[in-house]
Amino acid sequence: MSAYPPDQGRLITSLTNETVKAVRALHMRKEREATGLFLAEGLKFIGEALDQGRTPTTLLVGMEARAHPLLDRAIAETRRTGGDVVTVTHPILEKISRRENPQTVLAVFEQAFTRLDDIDPASAPCWVALEQVRDPGNLGTIIRTADAAGCGGVILIGDCVDPFSVEAVRATMGSVFAVAIARATPEAFLTWRAKWSGSVIGTRLDATHGYRDAPLSAPTLILMGNEQAGLTDSLASACDVNVKIPMRGRADSLNLAVATGIMVYAVTDALADS
Ligand code: SAM
Repeated sequence: MSAYPPDQGRLITSLTNETVKAVRALHMRKEREATGLFLAEGLKFIGEALDQGRTPTTLLVGMEARAHPLLDRAIAETRRTGGDVVTVTHPILEKISRRENPQTVLAVFEQAFTRLDDIDPASAPCWVALEQVRDPGNLGTIIRTADAAGCGGVILIGDCVDPFSVEAVRATMGSVFAVAIARATPEAFLTWRAKWSGSVIGTRLDATHGYRDAPLSAPTLILMGNEQAGLTDSLASACDVNVKIPMRGRADSLNLAVATGIMVYAVTDALADS
């Protein structure tokens, strides 16, 4: 197969090419779990990953991709670490990303979960734990917001959506490598939480404490509940205090990602001021 252009790897034009099929399969959770890989889109994401020391296992460059120093860096870093660089046609970008206006550069990365026991709570003032989060957009937005607020990471409790799904990764806007992401069963979480030295704050609609009133000590761990069922009694009772964000209009609750954003900024601002 002839190379086009020569510095962007071999040209792939067939939708049935093995590399294309393997990358497309990463839309399926089963395949992500089997390979430990995930699909990311766009040069911005890839730049964030490179800054965190993560390099693609496969870099797919669209034929229409514009020359950019970051693209040169991505190609060089991918090759230096043994990854594959290929050039693909627009229809292949569309098929892989399942979008009519796909990003012109796509990349496959290895997933990076942190073991619960490897978390150093003192390394950040605030951490977030999510119980059975089900919406990939919510999870990606929370990871991005946790990063923006200076949180150390996000702990996924119980049966949660995959943080490395294409939709969740898209919503992180590149923050997926910037914070620790850990998984735990409810039992493992409760055992681990028992050793937590700072405050543990739950969020419940039936709480009587206001969200700015909780006594805080760093590091603070914030627990957020499932989109439908809220925070379960067993996790809420493991918190030092449960708090509520006031609902002043007709809506009876906030979107999970919005509530998490309000909580992480309230906590990190209060800790910074104390
Ligand atoms: N019907 C659910 C309930 O009764 O909890 C609503 C769940 S709400 C959509 C999802 C999560 O966002 C909640 O478990 C909680 O963590 C957080 N949340 C939403 N609105 C909140 C509020 N006003 N105060 C505190 N937490 C809130």
